[in-house]
Amino acid sequence: VKGNYLNRMGRYDAGMKKKMEDDQVLLSEVQRALDNREFIFYAQPQCNMLTGKIIGLESLVRWNHPVRGIVQPGEFIPLLESNGFITNLDLYVWDMVCGKLHDWIAAGHKPIPIAVNVSRIDIYSMNVTNTFAELTSRYEIDPALLAIEITESAYAEDYNLIRQVVIDLRNAGFTVFMDDFGSGYSSLNMLKDVNVDVIKIDTKFLDMNEYSQNRGMGILETIVRMARLTQLRVIAEGVEKKEQVDFLRNVGCIYGQGYYYYRPMPIEQFEPLLLHEENV
Ligand code: C2E
Ligand code: CA
Ligand code: CA
Ligand code: CA
Repeated sequence: VKGNYLNRMGRYDAGMKKKMEDDQVLLSEVQRALDNREFIFYAQPQCNMLTGKIIGLESLVRWNHPVRGIVQPGEFIPLLESNGFITNLDLYVWDMVCGKLHDWIAAGHKPIPIAVNVSRIDIYSMNVTNTFAELTSRYEIDPALLAIEITESAYAEDYNLIRQVVIDLRNAGFTVFMDDFGSGYSSLNMLKDVNVDVIKIDTKFLDMNEYSQNRGMGILETIVRMARLTQLRVIAEGVEKKEQVDFLRNVGCIYGQGYYYYRPMPIEQFEPLLLHEENV
């Protein structure tokens, strides 16, 4: 028994070591990747579930790695957050997003709002309101076209700081989304104090086995009702199935985002779609 235990430990250590070495390699590649413009702008629409129309996009970064191909954010964002490099990447992404909005306007199209993800590390390392204000003024775009997604856990961790950042962002004309609402840190009390425009309900309320699904749906219904009373808009995340759409519509949740509608895709693939929406 003891031998087995040690063997398992040995394998575990080797696995850990391999992971750390891989992370090291990844990290040394990130600056090069930024210089070579390997990070690309994927987007996923946010839809009105009553009409099926696209009401906005969320930018979701991908790494188009020369050897590994398209790398998902789950494989590099946690690492970049742990060493602070995420801020360089986010500045790059936000610049790309504002540049795209500028191009649409310059080409005479009606721009569609785009939501960007903000890491809590970004909030500690800079004045994000000034950064976004500088970007929107440089690219000559209305701040209302930018939605700032801040994950729920950030609010819980530095309540007063984030509360103030939300106030500043909204005063400057930006829209603020609380991302991953219900993922584990929030209290309903927080919604009373933190004045966001939109909550994005975490996908876990939709993605469960039969028993917990019933409970998840009950909670979801309560959140939607409460949000309505307090004039918060709600977007359900991770909508995959027709039944989920039906349920959400029944409880009065109008907006949804998920594979049922669209998967995240390179922004260029959405452009013809968006131009089409304008004409409907
Ligand atoms: P998130 O902000 O919660 O984004 C939603 C995630 O759910 C995305 O994963 C999206 O592809 C995925 N998703 C969308 N619809 C469905 C669905 O119907 N079913 C399922 N199972 N998943 C769905 P993705 O693109 O892998 O991004 C993961 C996380 O990485 C994001 O979670 C966000 O926290 C972070 N992230 C992505 N791009 C950026 C970025 O530019 N900056 C920062 N700081 N974080 C980013
Ligand atoms: Ca998000
Ligand atoms: Ca989310
Ligand atoms: Ca999430």
